[in-house]
Amino acid sequence: MEEDTLSSEGTCGFCGEKVSSRALARHLKKHLSEKAAKSPEAGKRAFHLLVTGEGWYVTGKVYFLHLLVGGEASFSDLDDFLRAIWLECCGHLSSFHVKGRRYDFDWMAVEGFIGEDMEQPVGEVFRTGQILRYEYDFGSTTRLEIKVLSEYPLHSNDNIVLMSRNEALHIKCESCGKKPAVNLCSIHYGGEPRLFCAACGKKHAKTCPDFDDYSALPVVNSPRMGVCAYMGSESIDTERDKPWNGK
Ligand SMILES: [Zn+2]
Ligand SMILES: [Zn+2]
Ligand SMILES: [Zn+2]
Ligand SMILES: [Zn+2]
Repeated sequence: MEEDTLSSEGTCGFCGEKVSSRALARHLKKHLSEKAAKSPEAGKRAFHLLVTGEGWYVTGKVYFLHLLVGGEASFSDLDDFLRAIWLECCGHLSSFHVKGRRYDFDWMAVEGFIGEDMEQPVGEVFRTGQILRYEYDFGSTTRLEIKVLSEYPLHSNDNIVLMSRNEALHIKCESCGKKPAVNLCSIHYGGEPRLFCAACGKKHAKTCPDFDDYSALPVVNSPRMGVCAYMGSESIDTERDKPWNGK
């Protein structure tokens, strides 16, 4: 699949304008700078993060989230948020890596954490320009990159605000090549059609018995699409998690 046909844009959470992924960071910076200049709050810190990820079924880092994260939020709050919007399938382990430090979340561990304390506030660690690596599931791993774009004297406590994310990618059915794909069949490799519109999915089920059984997964707006048993987000911005509507 060509990257340019999938190139993503996002809607600004402040003014509602649609902005290309390349211009979004600067666009949001304008809003945040204005807010901070108008009503700065001494001692408060909020971080503008850009989270990007590459999917298994699409190439390029076309998935993105722009987040405003309060300095009092913990790594485990951020972990929860990323799981809820993009990742959670069946409770895998996850970890943040930042400058040689590692924060691991493990359900089996006594306190749930290995390495650095996941309850540490991000404000104690984040610096503008920092790049963190994040991994969800150490088997079929989804890798994300988290960039700390800037910091503002804004009151956000431990809140995590979704300022923008990529709109549904224009993923087409690989069988008819026309309609938006709504399902994928997770047992095929690249080269074979594996992303299907509803009609082509029905045809596919006739030749692939696993499709009706277990291998069909929904097209969703996440780098975890098609991995393990990922079904999409149940709680955050679910409207934008749906497949492209073809327009
Ligand atoms: Zn805007
Ligand atoms: Zn899973
Ligand atoms: Zn089709
Ligand atoms: Zn199949």
